[in-house]
Amino acid sequence: MRRRRVDLALVERVRLSSYGNSHSSCAERRVVRTLEQARAAVRSGRRITLRGGALAFDRQALGQDLVLALDGFDELRLDHDAAQLSVGASATWGQVIGMLDGTGLLPPIVVSASTTTIGGTISSNSISRFSPVFGNEGRSVRSLELLCADGEVRSCSRTEHPDLFFASVGGLGGLGVILSARYQLMSVPVPTRVCTRVERHAELDGLASRLRPDLQRSVTAYAVVAYSRGRPRVLLARASYCDDPLNTMLPHRPSARLRVPIEWVINRFPIAGQAFWNFAYDVYVREDRPYVDDLFGFTFFQDGNVASRRAAQRVGLGFRVIQQTFLIPEQRGELLECFVHEAEARLRRAGFHTALVDTLYVPRGERFALSSTRDGGGFVVTLTYEGPLDLRRLQLELSRLACDLHTEGGRVHLVKNVFAPPGLMEAAYAPGLAQWRAAKRRWDPERRFSSDFHEQVFAAQ
Ligand SMILES: Cc1cc2nc3c(=O)[nH]c(=O)nc-3n(C[C@H](O)[C@H](O)[C@H](O)COP(=O)(O)OP(=O)(O)OC[C@H]3O[C@@H](n4cnc5c(N)ncnc54)[C@H](O)[C@@H]3O)c2cc1C
Repeated sequence: MRRRRVDLALVERVRLSSYGNSHSSCAERRVVRTLEQARAAVRSGRRITLRGGALAFDRQALGQDLVLALDGFDELRLDHDAAQLSVGASATWGQVIGMLDGTGLLPPIVVSASTTTIGGTISSNSISRFSPVFGNEGRSVRSLELLCADGEVRSCSRTEHPDLFFASVGGLGGLGVILSARYQLMSVPVPTRVCTRVERHAELDGLASRLRPDLQRSVTAYAVVAYSRGRPRVLLARASYCDDPLNTMLPHRPSARLRVPIEWVINRFPIAGQAFWNFAYDVYVREDRPYVDDLFGFTFFQDGNVASRRAAQRVGLGFRVIQQTFLIPEQRGELLECFVHEAEARLRRAGFHTALVDTLYVPRGERFALSSTRDGGGFVVTLTYEGPLDLRRLQLELSRLACDLHTEGGRVHLVKNVFAPPGLMEAAYAPGLAQWRAAKRRWDPERRFSSDFHEQVFAAQ
C-alpha cells in the first residue's frame, strides 16, 4: 500500500469515547417510556442524540444536549405464517432470540452482544458472522415506524418514504427516533444450533478466496488471525445452522464461570492474550470434527466481553477495547493479505500488539446511505487493540491506515471506532452522504437529531 503523511495535530482533534473508554459529556440523559414523552422531547427544540444499549464503540450514541433512551418500547409480535417479526426499538436482541428460539424462524443477521437494541443495530445496519451469506441487517428490515423531527410518526419502507427508510437504516440516529421495525425471518432447523468446522492456516495466502461463502448451502466463512513472533496464525471457520447434537466450543460459552477473569487478564496483559491464542491454535482447536453450539452461545459470544467490561468497571478497573473496521473493495481482494500483514507490522513497529484481526466477506448492500457496502461489497477487516494503550499514537497509526486504504479504494466502516483525519470520511462516503443529506434536509431541516459522532466525522452535516 502507498503511504500518505498524516498530520498528528489534525488527528488529535479526533476525540475518543466509547465502549470501555472514558468519555465526558455535558448532556442530559432522559429515559422516555411513552410516545407522548418522546414526542415532547422531540418538539422541545433541543438537539437530540438517541441511545439504545450504549454499546457503540465510538461517539455514535453521545451528544452534548439531550440524550434520549427509549424504555418499554419492546413489544414482540411474531406472524409465523408470513415469517415476519414486528418488534419495538428498545427490545434487546437477547429478548428477540429468547422469543424466537425453537420457532424455526430467525432474522438472518443478529449481532454478537445480547444487550444491543433493535433501534441501535438498525441504525448501524449491523453485520454478523453470517453476513457473507445474508449481507447486512438492513436487507431483512421490511419497514420502520419513525418519530420524525416534526413530531409525526411515519411508516417507511422501500416503497413508502423510501428516502427516509434508506437514510435511517445505518443512519446512526440522525433522521428520527426508530420506534419499531418489521423483519423478514428465515427458516432454520429446530432445535437451532450452529455447526462450525475450523481449519488452521499458518499463512495468509489465498485468504480472500477461502473467505467466499457457500451460498448454495448457506455456509458462511470467517477468519480470525493472530500473530506470534511476527507470523500469522489463522483460524478459518465455516458455519451453518443445523440441529445436530451439541459439541460446544469454549469461546461460545459466554456465561462460563471463568470467562470474566480470563477476559480481564487477556484485556490487561497482551502477552496473556497471545498465550491464550497460541493454546487455542496449537492445542485446543480440532479440525477433525465439527463444533455444534447452541443458538445463544454462538450468536452472543461477545456477551462474555460485555460482562467482563461491566465487572471491571464496577471495581474501578479499566477495560479498554479499540476496534477499527476497514472495508477492502471486492475487486481489490488481492489487497486483503497485504493489508492485514502491513497493518500488523506497522502497528507492531509503533509499539502496539494487535490482539486479533477478524475478517470476512460482505456482499454489496442496498442503497442504505451510510452503509460501507452501499457501493460495493468487500472484505471487512477488524483490528482489535486492548488494555492500557497510548491512544494518541494508536489514533495516528489507525488514521494513517485509513488514509492509505482510501487511496486504494477502501474505507473505514462507521460502526466501530473511526479514527481518520478530517475530510477523509466525507470523501470516502461522498455519494451516500449526498443521499443522506438530501433526506436530512427534507425530514430534519433544523437538525434536531445529531450526535458527537455525526458532528465529528461528517463535520458539515
Ligand atoms: C461487545 C460488542 C459486540 C458487538 N458486535 C457487533 C456485531 O456483531 N456486529 C455489528 O455490526 N456491530 C457490533 N457491535 C457494535 C454494536 O452492535 C453497534 O454499535 C450497535 O449499534 C449498538 O447497539 P446499541 O443498542 O447498543 O446502540 P447504541 O450504542 O446505544 O447506539 C448506536 C447508534 O444507534 C442510534 N440509536 C439507538 N437507538 C435508536 C433509535 N431508537 N432510533 C434511532 N437511532 C437509534 C444511536 O444514536 C447510535 O448512533 C458490537 C459492539 C460491542 C461492544
